[in-house]
Amino acid sequence: MSGPADDRVNDVGARRLRRGDRLVLASHNKGKLREFDALLAPYGIAVLSAGALSLPEPDETEASFEGNARLKAEAAARAAGLPALADDSGFCVAALDGAPGIFSARWGGPERDFRAAMRRIHDEAGDALGKNPDVWFVCALCLAWPDGGWRSFEGRVDGQAAWPPRGELGHGYDPMFVPAGDRRTFAEMSDEEKNAISHRARAFAAFRDACLP
Ligand code: IMP
Repeated sequence: MSGPADDRVNDVGARRLRRGDRLVLASHNKGKLREFDALLAPYGIAVLSAGALSLPEPDETEASFEGNARLKAEAAARAAGLPALADDSGFCVAALDGAPGIFSARWGGPERDFRAAMRRIHDEAGDALGKNPDVWFVCALCLAWPDGGWRSFEGRVDGQAAWPPRGELGHGYDPMFVPAGDRRTFAEMSDEEKNAISHRARAFAAFRDACLP
């Protein structure tokens, strides 16, 4: 099922950003910075990058998407003395008990070779992938405050594994993901079509409704 995003919050995390606030994006990835800058500009929020502030990149030591997003957001908020937003996402395969999951980026290796990562999924799952082709993407987003407050959101989109992978658009595991209710993979859809249903869009919508002005 691809339901609404989950929302978790601690005692002091339930508050909104205000127009004019500065927010640190707890990522050193320039693509993510551009993406979040564009998403947040209409709300009057200025986005600073963890890279530009020379903030350290903590190891992702938690066992869940939500835990890793929180760990990164809390570290950035503490170090910068500003609210911080972090994300963590990945691709999960039922026939592999949810792997690669939080290790999705690592399965791409230093070369970020996701064709090889998809081949590894196919090889490791073997016949089990045909018997149970269920797969899903997850995106966790966490907003943390310098005083220790945090609120996190998890968006998910369910689908079926395609083999062989199809399509040239998108990135990562998109060519082997067919969202429920469609016959095309994410890599055969335009950005607009993918963004209407994606795990990231769902997590962002929940964050927007709860935390943006
Ligand atoms: P991170 O969230 O930047 O740590 O990376 C998560 C990894 O999951 C990425 O490197 C991609 O391989 C994969 N991933 C996350 N979201 C998507 C998506 O929308 N399409 C394809 N792959 C994704």
